Amino acid sequence: MKIPFNVPPHSSNEEKYISQAIGFRKLSGEGTFNKKCAEWFKEHLHCQMAVITPSCTSALEMAMVLADIGPGDEVILPSFTFTSTANVVALYGATPVFVDVEPGTMNIDVAAMEKAITAKTKVVMPVHYAGISCQMDKIMALSDKHGFIVIADAAQGIFASYQGKPVGSFGHMAAYSFHETKNIVCGEGGALIINDPRFVARAEIVRDKGTNRQQFLNGQVDKYTWQDKGSSYLQSELAAAFLLSQLEEGSLITARRLAHWEQYHEGFAELEKAGKLTRMKVPSDCEGNAHIYYMLLNSADERAALWSYLKEAGIQSTTHYVPLHSAPAGIRFGRVSGSMKVTDDQANRLLRMPMWADLTKEDVSFVVNKVRQFFAEK
Ligand SMILES: *Cc1c(COP(=O)(O)O)cnc(C)c1O
Repeated sequence: MKIPFNVPPHSSNEEKYISQAIGFRKLSGEGTFNKKCAEWFKEHLHCQMAVITPSCTSALEMAMVLADIGPGDEVILPSFTFTSTANVVALYGATPVFVDVEPGTMNIDVAAMEKAITAKTKVVMPVHYAGISCQMDKIMALSDKHGFIVIADAAQGIFASYQGKPVGSFGHMAAYSFHETKNIVCGEGGALIINDPRFVARAEIVRDKGTNRQQFLNGQVDKYTWQDKGSSYLQSELAAAFLLSQLEEGSLITARRLAHWEQYHEGFAELEKAGKLTRMKVPSDCEGNAHIYYMLLNSADERAALWSYLKEAGIQSTTHYVPLHSAPAGIRFGRVSGSMKVTDDQANRLLRMPMWADLTKEDVSFVVNKVRQFFAEK
């Protein structure tokens, strides 16, 4: 048996929509399918604007431009995240300020975040790890008090919710990813969700190389020109066509993942009771999307041993981030605020199980049994 860590999901209308896009003879970012995907987000999130982008990384970059990040500004974020979250900050000459995560969710520790606030704090970037939302009520209350902008890295958060609303609807802006390793995919892709109306007018310009081309296309001006800083944050119609099909079937794809998540969670309950491992947690005000199923082993050595044991059995489990505060570029461009105890400890003990929509019940049982066997044989 071979069980890979990830296989991208398939949805019904990918080929059909791509053929339609080819037939429309309009393949750049203002085409029908980009509009339809943006509409989908507006309907589901009630956001002010959604920009379908070439990646989550580019969506975060666009958010940095809209937030006017530059040298001297500080951006608070967890060290336990993907490179992109901090890289977009360094790219514009601002300083990433790394804080610790909470032990239960591996999400930004709000108390540590509050302590990291200085007069230079311009943005805070919560990362919804494993699709489980950060404590956005507390973070937004601190934003109201201190005036910083909240840009959520919701790369992993599609179809997850917080207090009954989609995670992307929290924060002034939020960025999703549709990279092939995420729940909903189009190869490479992302979306910038703008929830605060004050960023909308500039977003039209920033996304289109800093020009007012959109006004020109809408017939509001008779020629367009360079207005502001920007880049090309537009997605190809071919990828957007694929994405629309995935979004339309996203609830079904998520439901399949959630069933596997539950099966893992139940399957590992006994081992947790016996003190062999700690299962991931979902706070009561969060609804997950089964982006990841992870567990914490009791030591880094035990994680390495389980990883090899599963590999031997054909099962591809994986660790996750090397904390950014200890990465070469993190040391060069960022600084640490407070203790990194939880990050340093838990990042070394975390292991992710195979998770993708088309796994079967038998696949998941096989993985669960192998993990049980590992502990039984010890
Ligand atoms: C995947 C991921 C990204 C990057 O997404 P891309 O679409 O590949 O740019 C950023 N942040 C987090 C937390 C991610 O998981």
